[in-house]
Amino acid sequence: MTAFPTGTILGYPRIGRRRELKKAVEAFWAGRIDESALEATAAELRAANRERLAGLGLGRDDSSIPESFSFYDQVLDAAVTVGAIPARFEDLRDEDGTIGLPAYFTVARGEGDRAPLEMTKWFDSNYHYLVPEIGPETVFSLSSDRLVREVAEAAAAGLRTRPVIVGPVTLLALAKASDDAPEGFDPLSRLDDVVAVYVELLAALKAAGAEWVQLDEPALVSESLPASTGRLADAAQRALAVLGGAAERPSIFVAAPYAELGETLAVLAAAPIEAIGIDLVRGAVPASLPDLGGKVLVGGVIDGHNIWRGDLDGAFGKLEALRALGAGTVAASTSTSLLHVPHDVEDESKLDARLVSWLAFADQKVAQVVTLARGLAEGREAVATELDAASAALADRREAPGVRDGAVRRRALVEDDFSRAPYQERENAQQALNLPALPLTTIGSFPQTGDIRRARAQFTRGELPQDDYEDFLRSEIDRVVALQEDLGLDVLVHGEPERNDMVQYFAENLDGFAVTENGWVQSYGSRATRPSILWGDVSRPAPITVSWAAYAQSLSVKPVKGMLTGPVTILAWSFVRDDQPLGETANQVALALRDEITDLEAAGIAIIQVDEPALRELLPLKKADQPAYLDWSVRSFRLATGGAAAPTQVHTHLCYSEFGVVIDAIRALDADVTSIEAARSRMEVVADIARYGFDHGVGPGVYDIHSPRIPSVAEIESLLRRAVDELPLRQLWVNPDCGLKTRGYDETVASLRNIVEATRRVREDVVVPA
Ligand code: GLN
Ligand code: ZN
Repeated sequence: MTAFPTGTILGYPRIGRRRELKKAVEAFWAGRIDESALEATAAELRAANRERLAGLGLGRDDSSIPESFSFYDQVLDAAVTVGAIPARFEDLRDEDGTIGLPAYFTVARGEGDRAPLEMTKWFDSNYHYLVPEIGPETVFSLSSDRLVREVAEAAAAGLRTRPVIVGPVTLLALAKASDDAPEGFDPLSRLDDVVAVYVELLAALKAAGAEWVQLDEPALVSESLPASTGRLADAAQRALAVLGGAAERPSIFVAAPYAELGETLAVLAAAPIEAIGIDLVRGAVPASLPDLGGKVLVGGVIDGHNIWRGDLDGAFGKLEALRALGAGTVAASTSTSLLHVPHDVEDESKLDARLVSWLAFADQKVAQVVTLARGLAEGREAVATELDAASAALADRREAPGVRDGAVRRRALVEDDFSRAPYQERENAQQALNLPALPLTTIGSFPQTGDIRRARAQFTRGELPQDDYEDFLRSEIDRVVALQEDLGLDVLVHGEPERNDMVQYFAENLDGFAVTENGWVQSYGSRATRPSILWGDVSRPAPITVSWAAYAQSLSVKPVKGMLTGPVTILAWSFVRDDQPLGETANQVALALRDEITDLEAAGIAIIQVDEPALRELLPLKKADQPAYLDWSVRSFRLATGGAAAPTQVHTHLCYSEFGVVIDAIRALDADVTSIEAARSRMEVVADIARYGFDHGVGPGVYDIHSPRIPSVAEIESLLRRAVDELPLRQLWVNPDCGLKTRGYDETVASLRNIVEATRRVREDVVVPA
């Protein structure tokens, strides 16, 4: 066995420093480049990343550089590798059974009548993975040698890399039962079959020159999956017994990121594998260690989730603590893949230098790992200068102006600030809005066209004067309002043309935030976001959205929704200060939004939507941590909206369909209307809502905006009928799953027309004429 590297990272960003992969993939989808051109760009990107990592100090030939590329998603990669695609895509295989790149993208994005895989959040991050569909009929077979080819590609360039793949337990734990599966079928029951394919894969990786392989098993740390931690641990034991016993294989490193591994560490310690990775940022150093049987213990001490340079000395201390507990060989790593952080602080020319000195993006984190590894090899003295420099930056951050702002901290809160009038009273007062049954609305954004992006870019570069830019935005709002009137929607939106991003826009207009130029992070597939950095106390220097909302309202007699992003989502999609409890930071953001709502009401806006799509995402993976989270997150939303008068209808929007998981919290938000994603899961969520007895307004989405597919009238009608069957009419709203900003106008208009027509048909049947 060759030794495990003393320092490594669990994975590296895949999108490219300037989002090269996004551009190439989208060009391929649009037919502007062919498959070989796309493959060539991807290969260049991988080569550049490997060289970069070697340049930062990871070894060229010691397996410390992870082979962690993906064209779209790592869960889809694993599913495709083992051939686990739904029956509706089976005919897309090549003659030899291989699933090629075009087929891979079709599974991800859907095509015609073939719905894509569902998408959902990856653990407690803002990354979305595709949900595999597995049933008794799924035939597992090695169906892609992509990872093997990537290892060979690296070897040809003189590098021995470490292939990374989602492990079998996590693959099945994240899967859902296929459409053809019998009621109650559990994908984990297919473990032995899937493991047999991993055995083949390991042999192929070994033959390609891999000395180590990394199996990512984050499912083992989660208490939020359908399978219990005990069942997952049993599954890991079974799977690893087989994989470890395989005749031809690389050494196996099982990584368990995102939270504390807890008792499952003993299971991995007893398994026939060679290295174990634990998350020591989200999890504590264990009180004692099981007998590791000579395995390497890889301490994830550098935060893969956040961008702070942090306490490097403390990180080194954790590794020393593992040694003191008797771990034979200890290695340094990141707590998770670096896919959640941008590439490089050096790419930021506009950030304040003092702020920069407190930050570490992916490349700086690699350097931190390299430092820690040197410390492990040569002793603390050898890296004392680096550890001290990080400590000095941390101390500087504590003292810097703006980190604590007296005016923000003096605003006292009383319990009344967290509630509105009783729901009944509000519902009565809101009758004045005069809405029809099944009111039609959208979630807020309309397509962000090339024109909009160009105008914004010109404005940002100073090439377009502010007045001209604002004229342009008003003409966009004119168009979007006219379109909605023409379509026959009931509650209109202004379309959000002024927003590059629903969080960044607020970050740019609030004090306490900094915005990056190139700090892109993959959200899903080819989509990336640029999280802002929340570094100081938050306050609102001036109204933010009021003039746009008021302008849109001046164009129509129908109500126009004011559109705000909620405190939890602003936190979830930013890189947030880690020096005070999140709840405290959330309340600062909430107070700024509360003032904005007061101003919107004064400007004549009767419906205000406060989006909280990230509420579920921040839910801690450990049950014990969940009540405290739900408490502060709900309270911050209630603080933001608690000042709204009874006749003001407060909406919220959530971007996922696991309503059941956080339904108590959703009720506690006490929004008058909640819109949620439901189209991809074909309204499954409506049954949950009905069973629970949720009685406020609800808009289950009828149009999956993550896919380019246009839903037919019949399809939407059947979704709506399902909703109408399950829930009282007075509660139901009709809307897409989410905002329309990523879609084109043609598909948007066609889809909305179909939604309006389907609603008309359903109304005809179910609405009793007054
Ligand atoms: N109002 C936002 C939009 O329509 C909501 C988006 C979201 O929830 N992700 O774009
Ligand atoms: Zn959404």
